[in-house]
Amino acid sequence: MYRVLDIIKGTTVDGPGFRTAIYFAGCSHQCPGCHNPQSWDFNGGKEMSLEDLMEIIEEEDFDVTLTGGDPLYKPGSIAILAKAIKESGHTVWLYTGFTIEEILASPSLSIPLPYIDTIVEGPFIQSLRDPDLPFRGSSNQRIIHNPYSL
Ligand code: SF4
Repeated sequence: MYRVLDIIKGTTVDGPGFRTAIYFAGCSHQCPGCHNPQSWDFNGGKEMSLEDLMEIIEEEDFDVTLTGGDPLYKPGSIAILAKAIKESGHTVWLYTGFTIEEILASPSLSIPLPYIDTIVEGPFIQSLRDPDLPFRGSSNQRIIHNPYSL
């Protein structure tokens, strides 16, 4: 099961094109200046199954963004969902507060990588905030395509 805070269909700010963005509950990075501290509670939102999520995703022909909170705190279940999304013919962007170095060094955090087209990584750093950057909040965060190839 997944704890989901919100699902927004047709967003254009969480990756290219029109996308379905799924906001998962829970984050422990505690970045100062976080835009969404109410997303930190791992018991927030409501419980949804893989089938519930795929039904909503398949209502539209949009690509999908997994965000939060930080979806990588549940890497096993995120891998299962990302695989199902890929099999439905859509690309997957994933937002995480972990850096790509932390992810690649961790057998657990890297479980979803084969099913992720693009990862937007790293904590939000208030002093590096740049509202002109597309798809990210601060300039330390990197947009990495095909992270599994690393
Ligand atoms: S990773 Fe994102 S949700 Fe988590 S504390 Fe940092 S900015 Fe907030």
